[in-house]
Amino acid sequence: MDIFNFSSGPAMLPKPVLEQARDEIMSLGGIGMSVMEISHRSKEFEKVLHGAESGLRRLLNVPDNYRILFLQGGGAMQFSMVPMNLLAPGMTGDYVLTGAWGEKAVKEAAKFGNAKTIYTSVADGFRSVPEQEELSFSSEAAYVHYTSNETIDGVEFKYDLEAGGIPVVCDASSNILSKPIDIEKYALIYAGAQKNIGPSGVTVVIIREDLLKRIPDGLPALMDYRSFAENDSMPNTPNTWGIYLIGLVCRWLDDQGGVAGIEKRNIEKAAVLYNALDSSDGFFIGHAKREARSLMNVTFRLRDERLEDLFIDEAESLGLSGLRGHRSVGGLRASIYNAFPKAGVERLVELMSDFAARNG
Ligand SMILES: *Cc1c(COP(=O)(O)O)cnc(C)c1O
Repeated sequence: MDIFNFSSGPAMLPKPVLEQARDEIMSLGGIGMSVMEISHRSKEFEKVLHGAESGLRRLLNVPDNYRILFLQGGGAMQFSMVPMNLLAPGMTGDYVLTGAWGEKAVKEAAKFGNAKTIYTSVADGFRSVPEQEELSFSSEAAYVHYTSNETIDGVEFKYDLEAGGIPVVCDASSNILSKPIDIEKYALIYAGAQKNIGPSGVTVVIIREDLLKRIPDGLPALMDYRSFAENDSMPNTPNTWGIYLIGLVCRWLDDQGGVAGIEKRNIEKAAVLYNALDSSDGFFIGHAKREARSLMNVTFRLRDERLEDLFIDEAESLGLSGLRGHRSVGGLRASIYNAFPKAGVERLVELMSDFAARNG
């Protein structure tokens, strides 16, 4: 039986990518050595690094005045690196909180400087995202930080946030590459790879070059974006395997028609699932408000929460894995990133209607 893996991250990788990685694991491009065994300074790895970088640049249409960096430390290390690099004394970091990851980001930023929550949807249980017009920014803001898709809560911005010239910093860990975005609206975008770009252990940072000039001297080298920008992402040994896989994922995305092509499929996949929630007569209850629904993480509950364990067990036995919601919020969550096949969503909605009929 095919297993459909709804895990929120590390999450499914495209099957053709895993197959190619398997085929090449002992010998990268016929060199007789694994990509994991060769020097990160070698010609062969240079090609791998360049492939990953140019893949991201092509797919996201990243202009020349932006650098694409590969770091380690996960998405979460960026919660610290962003303020260390960009939050000058006397300025504020403005934070827009629409879920659990944004909350963590502002908490870390507060350790370095004046981090200010300028908007939070905590009062409605993180079910919504603000309209652009609802936001107003501090006059002394060094940057505005937001989370384009809140992975745990399942809410997603449908627009690129604008802040009237204040640099916009975006945690796009769980929806980068899921749809076209306008990079020029951002000063810095970061994403841990393990949701939608590759394996865990590598973080992509896309940063506008002029921001590099604002970075204070004296930061630890590996916490300073300039070290990565000046050394081709290699001030030290990078995650070579992770970067290799990112390159393969980019090529797979090209074959899917790029981010515009994959967006179409993502919309279709999510619609199947949200329609199932909406047509269940309240047996299943979606968490996010309609207009904020994430295309990547579909969060929901059963009206009778006592049935949730049973539902998850039955799903598991049908090869539908990883549906339990994050431990902090409970309920269910179907993570359906780029690599997740529509057939898996269809199997899930079949179970939902059958389960509701039997237990309704
Ligand atoms: C998963 C996730 C993170 C944390 O990523 P790590 O790689 O575990 O540090 C941060 N932000 C968002 C939006 C995420 O989904």
